[in-house]
Amino acid sequence: MVFRTFSHGIHPPEAKHTATLPIQRFPFPPNLVMLLAPNIGKASRPIVREGQEVLRGQKIAEVQGMMSVPVHAPTTGVVTRIGESLNMDGVMAPAIILQPYPGSDQSIQVETPVDVDSLTPAQIIQGIQEIGMVGLGGAAFHTHVKYSPPSGKKVHTLVLNGCECEPYMTADHRVMLEQAQDVVTGSRLIAKATGVEKIVIAVESNKMDAVETLKKAIGNDPKFSVETLQTKYPQGAEKMITRALFGMDIPTRGLPADIGLIISNVTTVAEIGRLLPKGRGVIERVITLAGEGIDRPGNYLIPIGTPLNFMLDEVGFNDKARQVVLGGPMMGKGVAFLETPVTKGITGIIVLSEREMRQLGHRVQPCIQCGECVRACPIHLNPSKLGRLAQKERYEDMAAEFNLGDCFECGSCSYVCPSHIPLVHLFRVAKKVNRARSN
Ligand code: SF4
Ligand code: SF4
Repeated sequence: MVFRTFSHGIHPPEAKHTATLPIQRFPFPPNLVMLLAPNIGKASRPIVREGQEVLRGQKIAEVQGMMSVPVHAPTTGVVTRIGESLNMDGVMAPAIILQPYPGSDQSIQVETPVDVDSLTPAQIIQGIQEIGMVGLGGAAFHTHVKYSPPSGKKVHTLVLNGCECEPYMTADHRVMLEQAQDVVTGSRLIAKATGVEKIVIAVESNKMDAVETLKKAIGNDPKFSVETLQTKYPQGAEKMITRALFGMDIPTRGLPADIGLIISNVTTVAEIGRLLPKGRGVIERVITLAGEGIDRPGNYLIPIGTPLNFMLDEVGFNDKARQVVLGGPMMGKGVAFLETPVTKGITGIIVLSEREMRQLGHRVQPCIQCGECVRACPIHLNPSKLGRLAQKERYEDMAAEFNLGDCFECGSCSYVCPSHIPLVHLFRVAKKVNRARSN
């Protein structure tokens, strides 16, 4: 069978060994580190004090403006410190540290159930902010902002991104299998809030069990369709999913709303469907733990704020471990500080062995002008040329003449490069320098 897709792209080894493993709940660590500014936007403001007892589900930090979400306590326990803690980039950031009470169970103690059928569109958007929702697909952008398109832009279709094209990652896949009804409930709420007429759920062809489960959950509702897309990387990128589904392009520096779309990760939508009717905050998330460097890979429901080293000890951090990657191996980042905590945007943690790193390619050699990177780039850039300019530090020329700004850092070019040139890393540096120069 031929499935819809985009041109170019790559197909790295999938390594989705955890796809058949049901989601398991994780225990509480000795301390939870609740970062107050884990993503873009403004940090939330603490509304608890040191020494205060808190209940699981209680709000502990409130919003500061539109580009902010509240933080809720994932555990019943005590606030031991309000100050700063290391984030993933190794930078100190505002945080609340909680100590779970010994024997705290994982039942929710604070929630405010709502009759979602009686909510107006504006109340649904406000409710999504109130539960502290950000994009759970990795970007962690504020969901209530995403669902409020700029005035004058009419949206007609909600696209649920269930592609999960990164090798190793299976958390979205498990959510589609285990929480299909929540996906449907969340979709209906978002449709009411935004006024879209159609809902398209896009799933890659390596998850046919999820396609069937979702179709059953939808039943005969004509608003919905489930589309199966070819298994290919980076099928889950917004630009690629749009091209594969509709043959349309999101304009350069534009938004999906410019062509009438709202695109949302499928786990985000499932969580809205599960949490909003109960008035519960986001206090945990499903994370894929995989790679040969751990003994018990799987999909785990992990409290937000759990330090990475606690997670890795729980699943058996073994002596094959060579590199810890946050997110999938294509777009993820190497982790330098294992004391840092899980935030809402973390989809997976991969611990690669020497063998897996060799498979992904790591020894750098000169460019042999083979053109493989040009053939792989899904948006038809010239990564080889961009890479040569980066090595000469001609960062402004890269943006002005070779569309560096369009690169969405999918890593396909680095992956196929037989010389193992870290192209995507060079592009990230170039963008960072250009941003600093323009400020
Ligand atoms: S240039 Fe950017 S968008 Fe193109 S393949 Fe490389 S990382 Fe992906
Ligand atoms: S794939 Fe690597 S070696 Fe080939 S042209 Fe691109 S940068 Fe050069």
